[in-house]
Amino acid sequence: MHHGPLIAIIVMGLGLAFVFGALAQKFRVSPLVGYLLAGVAVGPFTPGFVADQNLANDLAEIGVILLMFGVGLHFSLKDLLSVRAIAVPGALVQIAAATLLGLGLALLLGWGIVAGLVFGLALSVASTVVLLRALQERRIVQTEKGKIAVGWLIVEDLAMVLALVMIPAVADVLDGGSGAASGGGPLATRFDLGLWGVLGLTLAKVAAFVAFMLIVGRRLIPWLLHWVAHTGSRELFRLAVLAIALGVAYLAASLFGVSFALGAFFAGMILSESPLSHRAAEESLPLRDAFAVLFFVSVGMLFDPSILLRAPLPLIATIAIILFGKSLAAWLIVRAFGKPDSVALTISASLAQIGEFSFILAGLGVSLKLLPEQGRDLILAGAILSIVLNPLLFKLVDRFAPAEPAPAKPRPAEPRPAEAAPVPQPEVPAAAPEPEPAPERDIAPTELSDHVVVVGYGRVGSLLGAGLAAMGESLLVIEDQDDGIAAARRDGAEVLAGNAADPEVLAAAGLERAKRLFVAIPGSFEAGQVCEQARRRNPGLPIVARAHSAAEVEHLRQCGASRTIMGEAEIARAMLALCGRKGEEPAPSAA
Ligand code: AMP
Repeated sequence: MHHGPLIAIIVMGLGLAFVFGALAQKFRVSPLVGYLLAGVAVGPFTPGFVADQNLANDLAEIGVILLMFGVGLHFSLKDLLSVRAIAVPGALVQIAAATLLGLGLALLLGWGIVAGLVFGLALSVASTVVLLRALQERRIVQTEKGKIAVGWLIVEDLAMVLALVMIPAVADVLDGGSGAASGGGPLATRFDLGLWGVLGLTLAKVAAFVAFMLIVGRRLIPWLLHWVAHTGSRELFRLAVLAIALGVAYLAASLFGVSFALGAFFAGMILSESPLSHRAAEESLPLRDAFAVLFFVSVGMLFDPSILLRAPLPLIATIAIILFGKSLAAWLIVRAFGKPDSVALTISASLAQIGEFSFILAGLGVSLKLLPEQGRDLILAGAILSIVLNPLLFKLVDRFAPAEPAPAKPRPAEPRPAEAAPVPQPEVPAAAPEPEPAPERDIAPTELSDHVVVVGYGRVGSLLGAGLAAMGESLLVIEDQDDGIAAARRDGAEVLAGNAADPEVLAAAGLERAKRLFVAIPGSFEAGQVCEQARRRNPGLPIVARAHSAAEVEHLRQCGASRTIMGEAEIARAMLALCGRKGEEPAPSAA
């Protein structure tokens, strides 16, 4: 049967990524390295099958869209505004610092100023995918540092949108305004607007897009999703989520000249105000993960290993700028805003890499003859190596970041605002450095004993917790979402904020002294890990776990749960119980 290059790249890309990713996992390096190697293997610089690079890039772009959509879903406008005081100056200063460093290196290599500026700009932007993956893996997107990092990313993104339209305009001017150089970038400078004209037009388009989303999108999108939800078709709901994410991103790019990523982020952010946002997030998860993998494969494909031999010293300098130059700049800025070292180090580490925007800038620079080919090769190699090294940087941060000062005792009166849904950070005012906010990831070991531990404070955990609190039990909750944390604190529980499957978090729960453990999270993979670790820590502990199927019951039992409660079975039991009672239900009518 005939098949095209699209099928080939999806099959080979995902297949090899799986093989190399599993190997990487086995050797205890980040699976990202495996995905990148899979890309190198299907790339043009290694023998054997060569995948279509353009298709790979398109697939990667879908990954970026879904990722940014997902982030937007967890972000409210308030969140975004709450970090602007630090994210805007932070990103701008960091871009300036990295650009200057890149310019310095370029001048050393004898390239000239314009080439140096393009090169430096390419080194200054972090990759959305790499940053978000790192934050998600550590479950810190919703923490203060996570929000600052995402805000920072958005500002960088906007700056790059401007850079992408400005560069052809600059090339035009350098060319003597012949117009020959334009044609790249989302906004070709067809009407000879001059530099300022192009800048103004771009800003106006971005503003128009934001206004359009806030006025039209904000009404239309939630309405549409609600309507679809009421049709009761799961398939249609999924389709609607995808159509909205991809559609808005496409609209943003083609009509407003905004990047795909930014468009998707806005689509998500608008949906985050709708109560359906959680479901929307879940629906887009599996696709998002698959396409994020293809992103790394497509990056790997660009890597030409010969650069390691052709220009080793410039490559080392490039990587030093990405890893250390940018980090140092970010660290200084965050510290200057009075944030603790742990926040500053995490933000530095998350930005110490480059990715998709850098490739686009490099490609544009070369096609307009502003950047020598070697510049592009250095940028590509620098990107790959910095992505490979990024997890190591995070390990260093984990090791050296001073433990965050933990509050001495849990306060039942929680410091967060009490309303539900996306919880804003209490740090809106822009001016002077604010007093240190409460650390989000409070994993100081508990001092409780004979306590009951509840993992997950959502629909199940919160009912359970409230009941236990009413019975006078001392309660420790492990939860990783802001709303759950706030609810648990309202109920008077001590809270460990973080992923319960993380050994470090679980170790802080004092399970050796606990009376009972309730695992009330829906994901059986993580629940199993929690049970297993808890069983190891305390062989005699009664562990009750939540399950949704017979297979999950089996799995959780094997992992050490002493009892499992299957949600669906309990629902049936409660329904059945209604039948026996008189007067509660209308008599079943004859069909
Ligand atoms: P629900 O399904 O409504 O009972 O919600 C489950 C709750 O568990 C949500 O609030 C999640 O944030 C939380 N949760 C899920 N997985 C974990 C985990 N691994 N660690 C901590 N909390 C979790």
